[in-house]
Amino acid sequence: MFPKYNVIVVGAGHAGCEAAVAAANMGSKVLLVTMNMNTIAQMSCNPAMGGVAKGQIVREIDALGGYSGIVTDHSMVQFRMLNMSKGPAMWSPRAQNDRMMFAAKWRQMLESHPNIDFWQETVPGLLIKNGACKGIVTSLGLEIESDSVVLTNGTFLNGLIHIGEKQFGGGRAGEKAATGITDQLIELGFEAGRMKTGTPPRIDGRSLDYTKMEIQPEMTK
Ligand SMILES: Cc1cc2nc3c(=O)[nH]c(=O)nc-3n(C[C@H](O)[C@H](O)[C@H](O)COP(=O)(O)OP(=O)(O)OC[C@H]3O[C@@H](n4cnc5c(N)ncnc54)[C@H](O)[C@@H]3O)c2cc1C
Repeated sequence: MFPKYNVIVVGAGHAGCEAAVAAANMGSKVLLVTMNMNTIAQMSCNPAMGGVAKGQIVREIDALGGYSGIVTDHSMVQFRMLNMSKGPAMWSPRAQNDRMMFAAKWRQMLESHPNIDFWQETVPGLLIKNGACKGIVTSLGLEIESDSVVLTNGTFLNGLIHIGEKQFGGGRAGEKAATGITDQLIELGFEAGRMKTGTPPRIDGRSLDYTKMEIQPEMTK
């Protein structure tokens, strides 16, 4: 059913989208597998690209032919160069984006690429043969072969959400965690850990009195 791919990318977040286009633009036949096609390139939290230390990375990705900067330009609602009161080494470009336009633009650019195929399913394991990774195994038990596999699972591998005193499994709010790959990687000799993210409160814009707020024009110090 599936051809053998040069590259399989697991997880279509920002990293997975960039990995897929980087490989595809170099001529590889790529399969981008992700658990939900409707969350391709979803902005997890603050819908911003760039900021201190990260703005430089977005520009480096741009210089290398990646799409994050292009998608950001197409879906931007505000751009600021942060830290302009300090020296140039501290300046940091940061865009605030419309999260729906951002994801839609990414998906459109990926779907326009002739070297990228898509598959919607969770990947619980890698296909290991003679000690080498030869593809993936999907939750339906499908084996898909490739020369290499790129894992860009973001916050989903054995993901755990903490809200107050409560803890429950999840990749992001409303999305299930991905299990299986971490255990397999540990069996193969890798070490696994978990890093923490933070998230700001979500507020209803209709409950705000905008007359009491200060407008932030672009490029202010
Ligand atoms: C609540 C929250 C707040 C955050 N706040 C910030 C912040 O303020 N600033 C910041 O820089 N970062 C923040 N992050 C981190 C954020 O995850 C990253 O910035 C960014 O989204 C990581 O991109 P990514 O491509 O690595 O992974 P993600 O965007 O997490 O994408 C991973 C993708 O892989 C898919 N996937 C995962 N496992 C599998 C599998 N086994 N099979 C199939 N598909 C799979 C998922 O469905 C998802 O589409 C936050 C994350 C969360 C959850």
